[in-house]
Amino acid sequence: MQQTLSIIKPDAVKKGVIGKIMDRFESNGLRIAAMKKVKLSTCDAKAFYAVHKDRPFFNDLVDFMVSGPVVVMVLEGDDAVAKNRDLMGATNPKEAKPGTIRADFAENIDANAVHGSDSLENAKNEIAFFFATREIC
Ligand code: ATP
Ligand code: MG
Repeated sequence: MQQTLSIIKPDAVKKGVIGKIMDRFESNGLRIAAMKKVKLSTCDAKAFYAVHKDRPFFNDLVDFMVSGPVVVMVLEGDDAVAKNRDLMGATNPKEAKPGTIRADFAENIDANAVHGSDSLENAKNEIAFFFATREIC
């Protein structure tokens, strides 16, 4: 059993597809162990994506992540980290397999609907970034 962090990004929240995206997780064996809707500050977004701070797209990524509210969730299940990444599809929705969240709900590589932790270690850190232990059921 693993836990991983998922974020429904501002583009998908604006489109009104929170429920459709959550259904992908729940229909594929991932339980929602915690969730909240929040508006990230620039400071939050910079800290969360600090690993990308030297990449040319960093400022655009931060601006996008603070452009509207997001929904942050802890997903739990067997092989949750890899399963979530499979359900999400490729970073660039044009390359995402049909039936994945990004293929179905994302516009482009900047506005790509969802975030998912990319390793178990990052999942632990990202979950601790957003949630206190008492908020995870
Ligand atoms: P996320 O971390 O949001 O789940 P990811 O793990 O699929 O996405 P990362 O490589 O971690 O991809 O990049 C973080 C985000 O930065 C991507 O979701 C995307 O919006 C943006 N990004 C990544 N690569 C590029 C790029 N080459 N050009 C523009 N934006 C990019
Ligand atoms: Mg990533």
